[in-house]
Amino acid sequence: MWGLIKRFFHRNRLMHRLPKMRGRVAKDEPMAKKTWFGVGGAAEIYVEPADAADLSHLIKTLPDEPLTVLGAGSNVLILDGGIPGITVHLGKPFSYVRVKGNKLTCGAGATLREVAKTAEKHKITGLEFLSGIPGSVGGAVRMNAGAFKQSLSDRMVALTAMTGNGDISEIDPKEMNIFEYRKCYLPDDWIFLEVVLEGKRVRDASVIRDKMAEYKKKRESTQPQGVRTAGSTFKNPDGLMAWKLIDKAKLRGTRVGGAVVSDKHANFLINDKGATADDIEMLGEKIREKVHREQGVKLEWEVKKLGVRK
Ligand SMILES: Cc1cc2nc3c(=O)[nH]c(=O)nc-3n(C[C@H](O)[C@H](O)[C@H](O)COP(=O)(O)OP(=O)(O)OC[C@H]3O[C@@H](n4cnc5c(N)ncnc54)[C@H](O)[C@@H]3O)c2cc1C
Repeated sequence: MWGLIKRFFHRNRLMHRLPKMRGRVAKDEPMAKKTWFGVGGAAEIYVEPADAADLSHLIKTLPDEPLTVLGAGSNVLILDGGIPGITVHLGKPFSYVRVKGNKLTCGAGATLREVAKTAEKHKITGLEFLSGIPGSVGGAVRMNAGAFKQSLSDRMVALTAMTGNGDISEIDPKEMNIFEYRKCYLPDDWIFLEVVLEGKRVRDASVIRDKMAEYKKKRESTQPQGVRTAGSTFKNPDGLMAWKLIDKAKLRGTRVGGAVVSDKHANFLINDKGATADDIEMLGEKIREKVHREQGVKLEWEVKKLGVRK
């Protein structure tokens, strides 16, 4: 009860300290529907900035307030106690893909599907692997998303970010060693605004379409479809496959509350019966414990946990 009262006062104080913004601001915004897992509590303050200047103004006015970024919510587990402080989502104003030659300038809010489709339309090959990853560009930079032995960083020739001080930073990713498998070394409080991706022009878009169709087929044959999941739960440890380790531990079908390990892909956790974030987290920890005990490998969460427990 005391916790609730404290949070109520904190939220109201924070609301009063917020600068006047041109974008959307809401308090106690439910987050579950904004994520693929469909679980988790509310964001104390939720902001969709109108543009980069609006976001910068927010950061500069409240430099010490914790700030969380949510993309398309396809790789996060928002915990049941919700997200304290400010949650930022880069929405429509950041959702663009512009083409010049063989390069695509993509706003952080654009979906990877839009990027791949635009590349196809302009006969640019090399970005087909993005078509089946259900995230936004900003989330994909943070995760260095990838598939079929390719990663976003392989195609990235420029990156624009907002630093934790609210300043714009232009980065040449080829000059700096900032990415590795599912990891970006830029500071956690940086917000990615835009990337430039480079592909190769081809004469005939059918090669691109064929590649996308092949990737789609592979995904459909190995991954559960139309379910509440965040994709691969754990990173592949060096030289190993997480799903094989989980399989060897005979954990397919294992359940905690409303959360279950997929029968089709052992590294996918599914919310199939009204799971809480707690159910999903406990199921993940159960897997980590058994795999470590039996096979001596420590699995690392690929899914990002945001917010606090209840
Ligand atoms: C069915 C399914 C299949 C998937 N397949 C793949 C796959 O093949 N390969 C793969 O790599 N991933 C896969 N994923 C995971 C996910 O789609 C990717 O990690 C994706 O890049 C996450 O993007 P997002 O916008 O959803 O980010 P979110 O899930 O919203 O956020 C992920 C992280 O990025 C941060 N973030 C989001 N936006 C920004 C920003 N603008 N600036 C800074 N930080 C930001 C968040 O704070 C969080 O830490 C899959 C997920 C699902 C559900």
